[in-house]
Amino acid sequence: MRVLSGIQPTGRPHWGNYFGAIQQYIQLQGNEQSFYFIANLHALTTMRDREKLETATIDMALDLLALGLDPDKATLFVQSDIPEISELCWILMTGTPMGLLERCVSYKDKKDKGLKADTGLFTYPVLQAADILAYDSDIVPVGQDQVQHIEVTRDIAQSFNHQFGEVFVLPKPKVLDASAKVPGTDGEKMSKSYGNIIELFEPPKQARKKIMRIVTDSRPMEDPKEPETDHLYQLYSLFASPADLEEMAALYRKGGFGYGHVKKALADASEAYYAEAHERRAELVADLGKVKQILGDGAQVARKKAREVLTRAQEASGISSWH
Ligand code: ATP
Ligand code: MG
Repeated sequence: MRVLSGIQPTGRPHWGNYFGAIQQYIQLQGNEQSFYFIANLHALTTMRDREKLETATIDMALDLLALGLDPDKATLFVQSDIPEISELCWILMTGTPMGLLERCVSYKDKKDKGLKADTGLFTYPVLQAADILAYDSDIVPVGQDQVQHIEVTRDIAQSFNHQFGEVFVLPKPKVLDASAKVPGTDGEKMSKSYGNIIELFEPPKQARKKIMRIVTDSRPMEDPKEPETDHLYQLYSLFASPADLEEMAALYRKGGFGYGHVKKALADASEAYYAEAHERRAELVADLGKVKQILGDGAQVARKKAREVLTRAQEASGISSWH
């Protein structure tokens, strides 16, 4: 089984990225082959600052390694190191109906939020299809928001296969039910570009401040509350042990507590949860040369596979090499 997933260096990873996706990367890295990439070509659709993008790219590599991504088990690389992806993207774009992309929620969402919509953002799902198909990926671990894009990838691959023969493997998304859509500090989907995130590597004091500001409802403290429908409880459930969670659920049902109590418990639990990764990151920062080496080695492995698949697609569609 081949696993592939990517994360954009549009900022530092947050709880949603971790529980929706990164946790799965680490669980799945022992598979036959797993490819994880930092999606800097995708990030370019919203980040137009060279220095910021470069820093965010290396930061993301450090973050993933500190969280437990193991370069001996998984291939970690930067998207732009694989030019084959952009070539494949063009081939796929030629058969992609406009309507398919117009229906994509993430494009519509960002557009509705007033983010500038250029053709890069619009065609983003096709580049993503190229990313996935180029490695013959079977499984794509993602959060709920990406499921529609994997469906688009399958549509694009199926239509290509139908026209030109069995070139592409059809991938399947893998989503964890409990953390498919982690809420942000405003209760909406936590998203780097929505300014409602709590980062994994934020200094604990700063993270605590953000946690204390998480939006809650204004029902009186005495009222019993259903824990499952409360986003603060949902966040706590990501970090708490089963026994602590049980205790918190009972408190919700009984009523008479303040949200400040839950927020404090959440801050303590999340801080303890990432303490080890914080230490590992500090060690990695001291050896940036090694991190760049890991990305370089990863790119070589990834490129070899992508070249093989691109050649297959070129030959099938009649644009193979003429010299
Ligand atoms: P951006 O706002 O720039 O799109 P993002 O926060 O959505 O950033 P991505 O890099 O687009 O992060 O996504 C990386 C992975 O994290 C994807 O698999 C995505 O599905 C997952 N993910 C993102 N946000 C959440 C969330 N709130 N809950 C669960 N998974 C998430
Ligand atoms: Mg996103």
